[in-house]
Amino acid sequence: MRQQIVAGNWKMNTTIAEGLELARAVAEKVQNPRGAVVFGTPATHLESVGQAIKGYEHLYIAGQNCHQEAKGAYTGEISADMLVSAGATYVIIGHSERRQYFKEDNEMLAKKVDIALQKGLIPIFCCGEPLEIREEDTHVSYVSSQLEASLYHLTEEQFSKIVIAYEPIWAIGTGKTASSAQAQEMHFEIRKALAGKYGATVADATPILYGGSCNATNAAELFGQPDVDGGLIGGASLKADDFVTIINALK
Ligand code: PEP
Repeated sequence: MRQQIVAGNWKMNTTIAEGLELARAVAEKVQNPRGAVVFGTPATHLESVGQAIKGYEHLYIAGQNCHQEAKGAYTGEISADMLVSAGATYVIIGHSERRQYFKEDNEMLAKKVDIALQKGLIPIFCCGEPLEIREEDTHVSYVSSQLEASLYHLTEEQFSKIVIAYEPIWAIGTGKTASSAQAQEMHFEIRKALAGKYGATVADATPILYGGSCNATNAAELFGQPDVDGGLIGGASLKADDFVTIINALK
């Protein structure tokens, strides 16, 4: 079976002390997760949270972003090497908030994916359509072109390291979740597109996570869909009990 993953995206929330408390509470409550559990902490927290979860199997830390260049005069930015040196295994790339507020486009994201892979990080690549695209019913081609523009330059070997997170923008932080049928439809279409580019074996092995108001109540139904391999969780990842319930909802 494909790898299952539940990744929390803490965004710009928690102090280091609060983050440590949260990560410790989750680590203590999670027993034998059925997949990888990832804490996407603020960059300032990575090292201490990484230390706090050391020794717990299946728990990892992720950066929420990295710069596309390896190093240099980019004040305020964080490089892939820095994430690695802080102990990160994963990095979230192309979150819709980065695309919207920081003007990250498909081309820039392709470079971020490249540098992340080059430095040994596993990219969690986010894609997803805004509401108007969903209403126009062009979401499948919209998401396919995001994948094509930022990922399809990768070789099969490089692509096999990628995790995809499908996050319809209209569902992020809105409390409005895609139905499990909508999530399954899109995940199926993404996998079909990946199979067209990289072949069925690679597509079948690629974890595709759902993100967008996934919570303790709806996680089991979403994760129960055949092409949904876990979730990228925003708000609900900030509450230890809810996050643990979501982790336990993995199939
Ligand atoms: C996210 O930001 O990746 C996300 C899925 O947020 P939320 O779960 O709060 O909708």
